[in-house]
Amino acid sequence: MVFGDGDGELFQRFTVSLDIIGHELTHGVTEDEAALMYVNQSGALNESVSDVFGSLVKQHALGQTAEQADWLIGNGLLTDAVQGVALRSMKDPGTAYDDPVLGDDIQPGHMSKYVKMTGDNGGVHINSG
Ligand SMILES: [Zn+2]
Repeated sequence: MVFGDGDGELFQRFTVSLDIIGHELTHGVTEDEAALMYVNQSGALNESVSDVFGSLVKQHALGQTAEQADWLIGNGLLTDAVQGVALRSMKDPGTAYDDPVLGDDIQPGHMSKYVKMTGDNGGVHINSG
């Protein structure tokens, strides 16, 4: 696996968040065990499974219950220059950031708001919430 060093302006090094490491390791398991195609809805499910297990890794390391967890993916990854707390929020999708450079977090919190798009492999990171 390769993790980015971040640009130091918007992003810290991507290993700063344990949930991101857990997220990426889960992709290896999902790819081998579930074979969810990494596109559209199956790709969004693939991303969602990685977010869940990434958060569970962090919760286990911190000795947290589900109620105590922040359910944020990438908390600590964004620099102080960014108006946001993480890459994604599993407890409140669409609220992780709202920044002039990064834009708004458009992740829908309900299937009725599913975003059909061609970029991001059909929105795998957008619709994973
Ligand atoms: Zn992923």
